[in-house]
Amino acid sequence: TPADSPTMIKPINKSVVHRICAGQVILDLAAAVKELVENSLDAGATSIEISLKEHGEEWFQVIDNGSGISPNNFKVLVLKHHTSKLCDFPDLQSLTTFGFRGEALSSLCALGNLTVETRTKNESIATHLTYDQSGLLVAEKKTARQVGTTVTVKKLFSNLPVRSKEFKRNVRKEYGKLISLLNAYALIAKGVRFVCTNTTGKNVKSVVLKTQGSGSLKDNIITVFGMTVFSCLEPVNICISESCKVDGFLSKAGQGSGRNMGDRQFFFVNGRPVDMPKVSKLVNEFYKGANSRQYPIAIMSFTIPEKACDVNVTPDKRKIFLSDEASILHALREGLQQIYSPSNACYSVNKVE
Ligand code: ADP
Ligand code: MG
Repeated sequence: TPADSPTMIKPINKSVVHRICAGQVILDLAAAVKELVENSLDAGATSIEISLKEHGEEWFQVIDNGSGISPNNFKVLVLKHHTSKLCDFPDLQSLTTFGFRGEALSSLCALGNLTVETRTKNESIATHLTYDQSGLLVAEKKTARQVGTTVTVKKLFSNLPVRSKEFKRNVRKEYGKLISLLNAYALIAKGVRFVCTNTTGKNVKSVVLKTQGSGSLKDNIITVFGMTVFSCLEPVNICISESCKVDGFLSKAGQGSGRNMGDRQFFFVNGRPVDMPKVSKLVNEFYKGANSRQYPIAIMSFTIPEKACDVNVTPDKRKIFLSDEASILHALREGLQQIYSPSNACYSVNKVE
């Protein structure tokens, strides 16, 4: 028994640790692609193309026209906790980038086959880089490419048998989740053109999402969902405190999306797509009072001082802690009351823009 023969405590093999942790950073297809899109946004891209083969099951690729990666970073690019975005703990308080944990690329290479093609403005030619599962650069060759970066991941989860089986079984669902997530980024990003294509069978390519990357949230909603959807929305502009506000759009009382809850609900904090279950619940509650047959579309963008938010709660950063959550919910409640009150026949609150 363990009592009479104490067992030795030994460190877990490094590569095993790496694989255990990687599976927690990259939970599914959507999370994997999200990390690449966020890297492109962090690199200042104004054009981001997402290509999927067999809904991402075979491979997926994110092509951007961002800054590119300079050759002296090639060897460390895919190493765990290597980042160009964060040096010291206090920096966490003032981050403006999506990434900062330096673990997306390292996790992706532990879970699939990762290659990178990149060129900065200082190089006349691009480099194609191949990494092994531990993040070691194993091959490097020159190739033609504009300034920017392409990251390709083949056979995601092929070395996690259970996850791989789950992924194959749920490909359509996973794909749906991914498209919804890409919609979120296309809605909130300003001046970034998004294209997403999916290729199935023998090169049948379909365009899933295409935006021009104009400016305002309103324009983005029109490109992503269309004018018909937009015309059923009511602007929301609620001032929560001196430094806190929410802007966005909600379904007019009679014109919800009618689909599943959360289907078309998007929440952002300082430009970052996040889950806000309490806000969603509140919106649904108020909406139910005005229209019990449908769920509202909700696209709500919160501006909250960085120092009052903690996005470093889960590796995917979808969960967020707000130090002033109670007062935010309180202000929201009052705003929603006004929007969905029967006396507000046309449901118009404040003016937009
Ligand atoms: P993080 O984004 O948290 O820094 P990642 O593993 O996602 O960690 O990326 C590691 C580093 O690789 C980034 O800090 C960045 O310097 C570089 N990088 C990744 N993708 C791109 C890209 N598309 N364009 C330019 N640099 C990139
Ligand atoms: Mg990143």
